[in-house]
Amino acid sequence: MSVVRVAIAGSTGSIGTQTLDVISRSGGEYEVVGLGVGSSADAVIAQAKSCNPKMVAVSNEEARKKVAKALPRVDVVADLAELARDADVVVNGVVGFAGLSVTMSTLQHGKRLALANKESLIAAGPIVQPLRTIKGAVIVPVDSEHCAIHQCLRSSTDAQREVRRLLLTASGGPFRGRTAESLQEVTIADALKHPTWSMGPKITVDSSTLMNKGLEVIEAHELFGVGFDNIDVVVHPQSVAHSMVEFADGSVIAQLSLPDMRLPIAYALGFPARSDIAFGAIDWTQLSRLDFEVPDRATFRCLDLAYQAGRVGGTAPAWLSAANEIAVEAFLDGHISWSKIAGVIEQTMQHHDGLVPTTVEDILQADESARRFAALELTK
Ligand code: MG
Repeated sequence: MSVVRVAIAGSTGSIGTQTLDVISRSGGEYEVVGLGVGSSADAVIAQAKSCNPKMVAVSNEEARKKVAKALPRVDVVADLAELARDADVVVNGVVGFAGLSVTMSTLQHGKRLALANKESLIAAGPIVQPLRTIKGAVIVPVDSEHCAIHQCLRSSTDAQREVRRLLLTASGGPFRGRTAESLQEVTIADALKHPTWSMGPKITVDSSTLMNKGLEVIEAHELFGVGFDNIDVVVHPQSVAHSMVEFADGSVIAQLSLPDMRLPIAYALGFPARSDIAFGAIDWTQLSRLDFEVPDRATFRCLDLAYQAGRVGGTAPAWLSAANEIAVEAFLDGHISWSKIAGVIEQTMQHHDGLVPTTVEDILQADESARRFAALELTK
């Protein structure tokens, strides 16, 4: 069997470091050929010294100079999109809209995309979708819910006819069961205390508002081509059933494992073969119950804001995602309260211009406009 060449964009983040962990535990099936970061020079230098990639991409100029000096035998480049050139699989673990170029270039090169960066697909769905027809350009989702659905769909030979509903599970985040009133005073530390998953700060805050689930609804629509009326969200606090597919005959197929992102990462790296290493295997003598409940859509308004943007389509999801990035950043910087996040996004969406995107420039412009309006909303 030939060695699979892997490039990791966002290699020092949560997904990136876990990808390196999966690779280091695998028996030589993978070779790391590229690492990409924004500005984490020291961390990527340390990674490169242990896994010897041919290329390191660093978008920040100062950081790039430092990396180039420390790694004289490595091709140090500015553009993370170049990582796709010499890889068989690109893991996109970049945070936020910045991951778009990696998603696009990977598919344009006809390479497999292990996609953890949901924002690129959500914001640029109309631009990214046509690239999926390129030979070899396959998206395997690393998001745990979508990885679960991807697995469940393998039980169907005619998904178009047989799939009735996708059921995305949500842990409910740290504020599940709380009232809107009691959430007025929550702190940044409270929002970062996720009950079941350990992730980066942006996605953890998104989980606390249910925007993460809203974005995942749009992501599921883009990945699997299922309409918004047939995608439901079910709160499942244990995060063991990672999502489910309901079929026409009434069967529901779910994928179960303990919360461990290394499972979806290993799945995407090895697809279509399954990994020999069991990440998150369940000890059935310890698992006593699985609970399911409906989401509180009145308190966690971001979920419906996402459904609305998804149904509008075009650049609306790009606006939603950009407004959310601005609002979450402002919350993490202590500029706005947690309960203001949904309001900033809702008000920003009032300015959405209905542009139908045909080029990547249209998406970039939508992103920029939404960020500008969201920044104005922050000051109100
Ligand atoms: Mg997820």
